Amino acid sequence: METDLSLDYTPERRAELEENVAEVLAEIKAASQDITPFKPARLVPISKIKPASDIKALYDAGHRHFGENYIQELADKAPVLPNDIKWHFVGALQSNKAKLAASIPNLHLLETLSSIKVADLLQKNLSAEQTLNVYIQVNTSGEDAKSGLPPLTSSSSPSDPLPELALHVIRNCDRLHLLGLMTIGSWDHSHEDMSKPNPDFSCLTETRDQLARILKDEGHESKDELELSMGMSADYAKAIKEGSSSVRVGTKIFGERPKKQ
Ligand SMILES: *Cc1c(COP(=O)(O)O)cnc(C)c1O
Repeated sequence: METDLSLDYTPERRAELEENVAEVLAEIKAASQDITPFKPARLVPISKIKPASDIKALYDAGHRHFGENYIQELADKAPVLPNDIKWHFVGALQSNKAKLAASIPNLHLLETLSSIKVADLLQKNLSAEQTLNVYIQVNTSGEDAKSGLPPLTSSSSPSDPLPELALHVIRNCDRLHLLGLMTIGSWDHSHEDMSKPNPDFSCLTETRDQLARILKDEGHESKDELELSMGMSADYAKAIKEGSSSVRVGTKIFGERPKKQ
């Protein structure tokens, strides 16, 4: 499917998008009430498969963070949209696409880093002036179809894959900045009993605490404030109550997506 790169939107579409975002932001604010000091979680509208005009409409309304899930689609959209957009990439990044990702000057945050190989390729292909923030993706639900590294427990050590990658980024990749962890989580967990804690969210929080412990033992004190990217349209308010710092919301803002051909 060709990405629609036209930037022209109707006033009606802009009003609809702004209304949806306002609703989501109000819910985010309400869910963040108990966080002290008060700091509402960041909203990252996920615009995959949606036309560039939808992004431009929200940009014109003042929004700057947007997320995409297909690297070619991001590479097509980024150059036609304003260059102060802070792009998040939330899809799987194959090593043969690392160079393409590094070539997008306003790629702000790669949310899905999960290998040393990709970290090294990004480090190699980013220019000296570029810093790319990264989250490491964690496969909290353990599903085969999900990417990401295994979560951590109290018995995890620096040689486990996740701490190994984190330490590699900190020590060897000065163009990358390790900012946090991300999970997608299982569909069932985010649609089941909403009164119970979501096991994926508890798992990511525990993994962050264990990673902070290991990094501290290795001499990296400052890493106990790692951000957590968790929560999507179905469960972002819940994710925030369970500690999320950044939520990725697509459908609730842009509407249902057509199936990608
Ligand atoms: C598509 C996507 C989202 C947004 O999902 P919605 O359910 O539409 O809000 C969030 N995160 C990732 C990684 C995605 O691919």
